[in-house]
Amino acid sequence: MEFGVTAEDEAFRGEVRRWLAGHVPWDGDRRSWERTLGGGGWIGIGWGVEGYGNRAVGIGRQVVWAEEYARARAPARSGHIGEKLLAPTLIAHGSEEQKARFLPPIASGDELWCQGYSEPGAGSDLAGIRTEAVREADGYRISGQKIWTSLAHEADWCFVLARTEAGSRRHRGLSFLLVPMDQPGRIDVRPIRQMTGTSEFNEVFFDGAHARAEHLVGGEGNGWQVAMSLLGFERGVSTLAQQVGFAQELAQVVDAAVASGAADDPVVRDLLVRQWAELRTMRWNALRTLGSSADRGAPSVAKLMWGRWHQRLGELAMRVRGAGAAVGPGDWSAGAPYELDDLQHLFLFSRADTIYGGSDEIQRTIIAERVLGLPREAKG
Ligand SMILES: Cc1cc2nc3c(=O)[nH]c(=O)nc-3n(C[C@H](O)[C@H](O)[C@H](O)COP(=O)(O)OP(=O)(O)OC[C@H]3O[C@@H](n4cnc5c(N)ncnc54)[C@H](O)[C@@H]3O)c2cc1C
Repeated sequence: MEFGVTAEDEAFRGEVRRWLAGHVPWDGDRRSWERTLGGGGWIGIGWGVEGYGNRAVGIGRQVVWAEEYARARAPARSGHIGEKLLAPTLIAHGSEEQKARFLPPIASGDELWCQGYSEPGAGSDLAGIRTEAVREADGYRISGQKIWTSLAHEADWCFVLARTEAGSRRHRGLSFLLVPMDQPGRIDVRPIRQMTGTSEFNEVFFDGAHARAEHLVGGEGNGWQVAMSLLGFERGVSTLAQQVGFAQELAQVVDAAVASGAADDPVVRDLLVRQWAELRTMRWNALRTLGSSADRGAPSVAKLMWGRWHQRLGELAMRVRGAGAAVGPGDWSAGAPYELDDLQHLFLFSRADTIYGGSDEIQRTIIAERVLGLPREAKG
């Protein structure tokens, strides 16, 4: 048993395993999977409040759920942006009406969300946002472009950070708006094809899109505070689930090394053992800092560690495969779909791990300024 997880939490593990065994494998439809999860009462268990169609459980049970979910190889979530980012933000900053309107369909898996922060020219430097939201009689008219918007092509709603005060600069004059995606002619979602061959993220163009006045969160001009609070919601519990996934990938790489004979190479053996030892270290560190905000550098340290760890695992996977790593599993005749196996996908997708959720350079700046007390870097 892990520390922080009680004997009762372990008993809960049996319930979780039974439910997952009865529902995974799934039918392949991500949207209906979200509804299945919602129907089982598994969405919103970490919100800390009840009454929105969700049930709240303690942190030990959240850990058990997240770990078992990963262990069962249950599907990647398409509802996580609503559940893990927007919902805690509404609980902290939303009005009672906003909570009553938006939390139940997140808990039931009926409404999916995307995050409209980044723009061309405003990624790491988010305060450079230029998307405008102009006040009109019953709400706001939004014009501008977002980019890298994960799952915008599946989402029903988008939370958008936009400039509501004309001529304002940087962090001032921004507002946090909840925008329905179904606005033909006013919202255009264009998928971006990645080197994995898939399109998880998109460009999103707003051309006079409408947001209702009552869907402004936290008051006009307070968007920066709301947006930062959303980014601050700890990854704690999901980090542990992520690590279960990492352990499964590492086991696949070890198998591939044994199969190819690369496991006989002392350098490869050394690298595999290092990956394993570092994964254990990350796990203990995540458990140590779970639910505590005392260590101000902890989220940045964790991000720096796992981002690079995962990239190294992808590189190692290609190394142990040898030249065969460059050949895909599918049909290579003209016109055949582009296919990757799990380890090729790991190698290519993990290039993004040191960028999203705050790049490595930005994490180091946070540690430099907030933990080491170095002078703040100059901003334009
Ligand atoms: C897989 C994936 C999913 C994403 N999903 C979403 C989403 O759903 N919604 C959303 O809004 N955004 C999303 N993003 C965007 C992500 O938040 C940005 O890519 C990230 O903030 C970096 O911004 P940028 O791409 O504009 O790069 P830039 O900010 O232009 O950075 C380019 C490079 O310069 C470095 N750099 C920038 N500023 C500094 C500095 N001051 N000091 C040192 N180095 C610096 C960066 O570290 C990076 O290496 C996603 C990105 C990825 C990769």
